[in-house]
Amino acid sequence: MKLEIVPDEFIKASDILKEIHSHGYEAYFVGGSVRDALLGQEIHDVDIATSAYPEEIKQIFKRTIDVGIDHGTVLILVGEEQYEITTFRTESTYQDYRRPDKVTFVRTLKEDLKRRDFTINALAMTVEGEIIDLFDGMSDLNQQIIRAVGNPKERFHEDALRMMRGLRFASQLDFSIEDNTLAAIQEFHSLLEKISVERIAVEFSKLLLGKNRRAGILPFVETECYQYCPGLKQSGDALLRFADFPERRIETEAQAWTLLIKTIGLKENDLRSFLKSWKLSNHLLQEVQQLLYGLEQRLIADWQAIDLFDLGLEAVVSVEKLLFYYNQKSKIEEASKLYLSLPIHDRKELTITGNDLMKSFDKNPGKWLGDLIQTIERAVVDGQVENTREALLSFAKDNLEKE
Ligand code: ATP
Ligand code: MG
Repeated sequence: MKLEIVPDEFIKASDILKEIHSHGYEAYFVGGSVRDALLGQEIHDVDIATSAYPEEIKQIFKRTIDVGIDHGTVLILVGEEQYEITTFRTESTYQDYRRPDKVTFVRTLKEDLKRRDFTINALAMTVEGEIIDLFDGMSDLNQQIIRAVGNPKERFHEDALRMMRGLRFASQLDFSIEDNTLAAIQEFHSLLEKISVERIAVEFSKLLLGKNRRAGILPFVETECYQYCPGLKQSGDALLRFADFPERRIETEAQAWTLLIKTIGLKENDLRSFLKSWKLSNHLLQEVQQLLYGLEQRLIADWQAIDLFDLGLEAVVSVEKLLFYYNQKSKIEEASKLYLSLPIHDRKELTITGNDLMKSFDKNPGKWLGDLIQTIERAVVDGQVENTREALLSFAKDNLEKE
């Protein structure tokens, strides 16, 4: 089968394949980009597989970076673009259900495709757009099925992360998991214990953000994979409730974790340790804290000026979007207008500084100063005092005298 219209992303990279060919090696487009092109979806990164060894690739191309040379991957830079070129390989010894400890380079495409996780991910494409389908990936793609390449039990024993990948593809692509593949996940769910939290988190986040998260979450619960995810051991029912949220793709990772945490019913105090146990970034943690706070407020009342100020426009809009999942109307425009009409959007916009205050009251820095600035800031945001030097100094004076 030939792809009728070869997307630009591949055309841009076709000279690379031709260059490799001219040195007597094979080269193909492989993996997710071929799958997504066939599905008519947006293409992320175009991966290339070749019979040339990494050293040989490095001799062919001038600008290369060794990103994973032990695993056969060399990054090559062409203009603004970069491409991962990976030597055909098998992954021989899997001692601990995780990444192979040794890869062996091979010279045939078939052997390379055989080690890939699912049939829809084991498709290759020539530079002319001809699809090479050695494991019936096309038929599974057409029937919207996630099926392990070869024996699923063996494949999940080799690398248990594949179980989570299968579940996330079900959600991302809105596909169903083939019976034997699903049964093998059910049987071997506990192997996930061997997989690092970071790798599980990547797949779980993608699952939450997928087009049909229900298609991923139901089997995630049914196969008991959730038992091996931090902080979810007791949350089977909550996850099922999460699957019942009104259909609409969740837009950001922070939104997804916020909805999940609220559904699980985690208390403010436990939120931090939960997200930490998933080894998520501090940045994400902060975002989730803000969204949860904002969501709780918005579910009971309209926005308060100070909450708009504290959260900032991006989080405010995000909270409005989350209301949809609670069958409430998102008032994005209204909330944005309210936010924009705040007297200030940043402490820096106050017309006086800490220095001004110290000078005016002839005092040394100390806790009083931070407290005072905060009081002033809140009063300005709330519209209790005008943001002029005069008004703020007088407000500050009154405030200090009160103490
Ligand atoms: P995405 O769109 O999320 O990037 P992808 O299918 O491209 O999806 P990658 O993680 O980028 O996923 O991997 C690229 C390809 O490498 C896959 O399509 C698959 O063929 C293979 N692959 C990746 N991880 C595994 C794994 N754990 N076991 C077997 N094959 C894998
Ligand atoms: Mg990819």
